[in-house]
Amino acid sequence: MRSIQTLQGIGQATASLLEKLHIFTTEDLVFHLPRDYEDRSTIIPMYQLSVGRSYLLEGIIQSVDFPPGKRQSMAATLQDDSGKVTLRFYHVYKALTDRLKVGNRIRVFGEVRVGARGLELYHPEIQAITSQTTLPKTQLTAIYPSTEGLTQAKLRDYIQQALQEHSENLAELIPAQFHNGYGLKQALLYLHEPPLSANMQQLAQATHPAQQRLIFEELVAHQLSLLTRRAYIRQIQAPTIKPSQKLATQLLAQLPFQLTQAQQRVSKEISDDLQHNKAMLRLVQGDVGAGKTLVAAIAACHALESGWQVGLMAPTEILAEQHFLNFSRWFEPLGISVAWLSGKQKGKAREAAEQQIASGTAQLVVGTHALFQDTVQFSKLGLVIIDEQHRFGVDQRLALRNKGEQGNTPHQLVMTATPIPRTLAMSAYGDLDTSVIDELPPGRAPIQTVTIPLERREQVLERIANNCREGKQAYWVCTLVEQSETLDAQAAEATYLDIQQRFPDLNVGLVHGKMKASEKQAVMQSFKANQLQLLIATTVIEVGVDVPNASIMVIENAERLGLSQLHQLRGRVGRGALASFCALLYKTPLSQNGYERLAILRESNDGFVIAEKDLEIRGAGELLGTKQTGDMGFRVARLERDAHLLPHAQHTAEQILLHYPNLVEPLLERWLPEAPRYAYI
Ligand code: ADP
Ligand code: MG
Repeated sequence: MRSIQTLQGIGQATASLLEKLHIFTTEDLVFHLPRDYEDRSTIIPMYQLSVGRSYLLEGIIQSVDFPPGKRQSMAATLQDDSGKVTLRFYHVYKALTDRLKVGNRIRVFGEVRVGARGLELYHPEIQAITSQTTLPKTQLTAIYPSTEGLTQAKLRDYIQQALQEHSENLAELIPAQFHNGYGLKQALLYLHEPPLSANMQQLAQATHPAQQRLIFEELVAHQLSLLTRRAYIRQIQAPTIKPSQKLATQLLAQLPFQLTQAQQRVSKEISDDLQHNKAMLRLVQGDVGAGKTLVAAIAACHALESGWQVGLMAPTEILAEQHFLNFSRWFEPLGISVAWLSGKQKGKAREAAEQQIASGTAQLVVGTHALFQDTVQFSKLGLVIIDEQHRFGVDQRLALRNKGEQGNTPHQLVMTATPIPRTLAMSAYGDLDTSVIDELPPGRAPIQTVTIPLERREQVLERIANNCREGKQAYWVCTLVEQSETLDAQAAEATYLDIQQRFPDLNVGLVHGKMKASEKQAVMQSFKANQLQLLIATTVIEVGVDVPNASIMVIENAERLGLSQLHQLRGRVGRGALASFCALLYKTPLSQNGYERLAILRESNDGFVIAEKDLEIRGAGELLGTKQTGDMGFRVARLERDAHLLPHAQHTAEQILLHYPNLVEPLLERWLPEAPRYAYI
């Protein structure tokens, strides 16, 4: 592997620019693939243009003018049979005005942008033509992802040098029987310099076999990384925890209902894991309201009864508090001490909590991410439960693992309320075992969802008020805490004051993220106790909040939120036997895409279906939180686009581990040079 500084024209300064692009070696340069191509060989009809791409256009100059403005400029309208664009010039000279005479037929090449007059090309290259002018026979020109200070021409030159030097000894790391027949070198050369005959459509969509070949290799490398991590985790020593004989039975005896089949199955999977002396790392997925908390509580029973401490962590104060209340209510009567730890806790209270955790008098500890902090030392941590995983980063997940005793890593149970499409789970959580609670408790009335333009907010409000007078409870969700210039969301506070004033006969509450924990808790408690009929809230109530009697939800500016997030919010209702209702208020005008998104929610109550759509529409980053897709760090693959390659990539990774173990390290080195390495057994 050679340093890039051996290439001509690359000194220290250029090398640090390249580092910004994660290019450190000549091989990295070879794998730095174009994000686009310029095609100077085909004239594109103007109706087909999209912003940000470069095109060769041909047409007749319709008009030329010199718009007034700070800078002298010239604007010419170029028209073909299908449409027109504006050519804009800030540097005007005679040869230019000569070419751009009304009635002249010309060809131009340039990047399309949005300007004052719609689609515009700034300073395109211009060619005057006659009916005989033929199209140039050039290659497609690669456009690379770059960074400020590094021109395309230079980058192209470095890559060419690297290709010449390197392409002969590029190692083929995927055995031929697994890939699509494209050699690695062949694929790279093709992508850096595609022939004129290349199918641009295919290249743009990354469906060309040369691209698929590289995407596949990258996915295989990622799978290998996950598989080795998983193998590593699975051999870590962890406490052997026998299934609970007493506690679990006592816990269930307190409840007015039976476990669902799905809850039983998943509980069994967990207790099986715990009996092994290897660390469990299990993800429990379940739609909102599926009853994950109880499954977590049963898991806790096993560890507690065997004398181990349990840590339960939730991503928000509200949710952590709710868990604290539930777990205290369930476990204190059974003689288990339940402690609370949050970031807001200070001074004596904090010291006392940490002291109890360190001495082991606190058996079950519930809290926020404060549990990760270094000052928090457990005496005998056996099981860590993390609720609503998608809010935590992988690094945090690993930090808690290290809180066990020397030689005893705690078991880890991760619960997520955002159902993760199977393909994505395979890649994002490939190192975890997965259980799915695919059944809701019986007797849940379905939620009826409607979409309503914001203009009808008043009628909706009247109707909600009437419902509240009849004894129902409702959430009214605003998407911002304070007025913001850029986003004109109805602020929760303003809404609260307004509604309180106009409906003095209703008991209205307010909860948002900027309130003190104790205030939030007090409000949530009165809502739960049915002392409030209407709760004005921000999205802080999104995850986990459980008030079964609440049956109505209104979400303002619903078009702003992701589908999975809306589904989460909506999941706050429909938890009891009351028929539930959710109104999504959207701001008009709404794009076609916007309508379609909200329609998905109206038509489906199934979190998995919604998650698939969300993945399609918004991409993996949005769904999992950028943190985690950032951790995934793909160079050429994009999960939402390439997920169909994953099953074969996973199979191939397994085969490589088994039969070609010496390929593992080079593959990881090529595609994930910065990822931690785990020994595989
Ligand atoms: P989530 O999976 O969204 O975290 P929760 O654990 O908050 O769901 O459970 C939602 C509601 O369902 C709670 O009120 C809980 O008490 C109730 N619940 C859980 N399991 C059952 C069951 N088997 N039968 C009836 N209700 C249940
Ligand atoms: Mg929950």
